[in-house]
Amino acid sequence: MPIFQYSFPTRIQFGAGAVTLVGAALKEAGKKRALIVTDRGLATLAPVTATRESLTRAGLEVALFSGVWGNPVKSQVTAGVEAFRAHGADCIVGLGGGAAIDVAKAVLLMSNHPGDLFDYEDEKPGALPIDREIPYWVSVPTTAGTGSEVGRSTVISDDQTHVKKIVFSPRLLAQRVFLDPELTLGLPAAVTAATGMDALTHLVEAYLAKGFQPLCDGIALAGVRLVAQGLKRAVEFARRIDHGEQALLHDSEHVEARGQMLNAATMGGVAFQKGLGVTHSLAHALSTVCDLHHGLANGIAIPYAMSFNATVSSERLTDLARMVGAREQSARGFVVWLEELRHQLGIPGDLRAAGVKDEHVDRLVSIALADACHANNPRPVTEADFRALFRQALGPS
Ligand SMILES: [Zn+2]
Repeated sequence: MPIFQYSFPTRIQFGAGAVTLVGAALKEAGKKRALIVTDRGLATLAPVTATRESLTRAGLEVALFSGVWGNPVKSQVTAGVEAFRAHGADCIVGLGGGAAIDVAKAVLLMSNHPGDLFDYEDEKPGALPIDREIPYWVSVPTTAGTGSEVGRSTVISDDQTHVKKIVFSPRLLAQRVFLDPELTLGLPAAVTAATGMDALTHLVEAYLAKGFQPLCDGIALAGVRLVAQGLKRAVEFARRIDHGEQALLHDSEHVEARGQMLNAATMGGVAFQKGLGVTHSLAHALSTVCDLHHGLANGIAIPYAMSFNATVSSERLTDLARMVGAREQSARGFVVWLEELRHQLGIPGDLRAAGVKDEHVDRLVSIALADACHANNPRPVTEADFRALFRQALGPS
């Protein structure tokens, strides 16, 4: 019998106002000079102001690096390392969506490891070892989706080729995580929907993934229930706020729904150490070929992918149907629930509506097939299966 590994080491603090604790945490760890790594779009907004205030109040010297945007590329990491050195920083606060948190991890790695970032690419022959303790850092997510705040890998693209490279090491885990739903209250409806579908896909795929990981299974199921309770509500609040009902921003039900989604996303990040599946291989190809937002791609694709899995994972899909309170407690019932949720969130029901065309299919198939995620899918996925899945998901011409 193989030996399995379960790793759940991160200390997490959740609650409205959790961001105010960041400064004290760094001070307690003996840190004096912090670099905040964040998205360009966040630089002047409330999450950065609140983090800066907390750090300053605790007596830390603070510098801001806000050179992260889009799909993060290596040159952003290089600039971040320069900012880290220029400030003489001894710690980092990774603040933002998955992109900012991934850049923070890569900056931490390159602040004290030699060579080039891509020399550390996961499973690359001759890759350099990640063998030094990286500087102290904490993560503060401002979206509820990727789960990168509790992840031990970072995805950075090549500036020229846009090929995504994964760098993985347990050393990249944040020492502390602060989940503050107030930081996510201002997210627009479309972003809330897409990132929420990413979180849901992590949970569902982790629950179905091959391997024996009962701790992850439990976390995945409870996370899916939180999505069922919070995602639609969060998107409804976001829609009304987008339309000018600012008074709803701090409504207690809004904060509660955001808190459910923030926890669900983090639980997804923890659970998918078990593995992901076919939906993520479809989504990775769609982002590479058609530049689709990762969460949107997952949101469109997941009902098709779970229909495909139903022949081998009927029992687990039925568990999920029960967990979300689907009308019919069966694999089919869960797929129908996914389709209805997708519709209620305003996510298109097929890829054509998102700008994908028939001529993209060949490239999509070859990239999805080469993607590592489907290796953990409960049903093996062949080239013909990928072609059929993309054809179905394209919808009628
Ligand atoms: Zn994802």
